[in-house]
Amino acid sequence: MVDLKGQYYRDKESFDRAIADVLDSSAFINGPQVKEFADALAGYLGVKHVITCANGTDALQIALMALGLQRGDEVIVPSFTYIASAEVISLLGLTPVMTDVDAESFEITAANIEKAISPKTKAIIPVHLYGRCCDMEAIMQVARRENLFVIEDNAQSIGGRITCSDSRVVSAGCFGDFGCTSFFPSKNLGCYGDGGALYTDNDELARKAAMIANHGQQKKYVHTVTGCNSRLDSIQAAVLNVKLRHLDEYIQRRRHAASYYDRHLSDIPQIIIPKESPSGSHVYHQYTLRVLEDMRDSLKEYLASKGIPSMVYYPLTLDRQEAFASVSRVAEPLDNASMLCRQVLSLPMHTELSEEELEYIVSAIKDFFNGKR
Ligand SMILES: *Cc1c(COP(=O)(O)O)cnc(C)c1O
Repeated sequence: MVDLKGQYYRDKESFDRAIADVLDSSAFINGPQVKEFADALAGYLGVKHVITCANGTDALQIALMALGLQRGDEVIVPSFTYIASAEVISLLGLTPVMTDVDAESFEITAANIEKAISPKTKAIIPVHLYGRCCDMEAIMQVARRENLFVIEDNAQSIGGRITCSDSRVVSAGCFGDFGCTSFFPSKNLGCYGDGGALYTDNDELARKAAMIANHGQQKKYVHTVTGCNSRLDSIQAAVLNVKLRHLDEYIQRRRHAASYYDRHLSDIPQIIIPKESPSGSHVYHQYTLRVLEDMRDSLKEYLASKGIPSMVYYPLTLDRQEAFASVSRVAEPLDNASMLCRQVLSLPMHTELSEEELEYIVSAIKDFFNGKR
């Protein structure tokens, strides 16, 4: 599904040198690389504050903590996403309210959100799934009207840029009160271990988030609020400093692979190829097909028999996870989300896919459907 080794070898010297510098200084925690990366990422995204932390799940948790929500408050989240988007909500004693998603974009829409709002609703966590940004202008309109906080789960869409209706270009994750991202190795901007960050233009929220990520510490041994211990270490920051310089090129490579898939798969009637968003670039964290006529699992098996990996992100809507049984609310029938769980199939997608590999993958898919027809 990914080729982290190939990507490493293409810039091996830069990565080795960056890591060796950290070993040399032995400033493993809070070395200069961490601030350098936070500043560089802020510049790249066009956001005022970046707070680095230990992983993407922590970023979401810290963002929710910084907003000062109370037990029992409701937070709206799509039912079709990775568990992390919702587990932080219930972990903090808040109630996840699960919505359906749009069948074409795979994402939560302003209309889904409107159906989910109750007097207890305090925040929304839209998830920019698979590298495609939600319609944030519409979502922000609802949020402003209803006075709701917005935390964007941008773990899959870093580097996405959205052209707004007033022609401003805004980075995915930079519309709401917080954007949160993950540097898990397989993400579009991945480190060599765990890492994450949250970002905001709001000075006060940034101050709170930084304090919470550091044991709620205001100054040395003075702890103002209950926090946690969540850090990006210097080695990971050093790796990310190298990778951030390549991120736009990485995205181009992903988009190149996606357009190859598009060209060769678009006329297979049993398949729906992913749709670009009208307002923004797709950064293709995943290239995810919808396979119709209940053929998804047999296609997956066929591809495996040809040595081609493929993955189902995600096989279950969140409301069907036992962990949420007694702590969540389901806002509306999850018809699209449940259908997508049966249809989605993600193909290999990374920066190192060669023309030969792409050709092998699409011809296997064509063979499968030709044989079936
Ligand atoms: C990866 C991911 C996360 C969590 O990131 P970690 O760094 O693994 O904690 C959260 N949300 C989504 C949508 C993700 O894909």
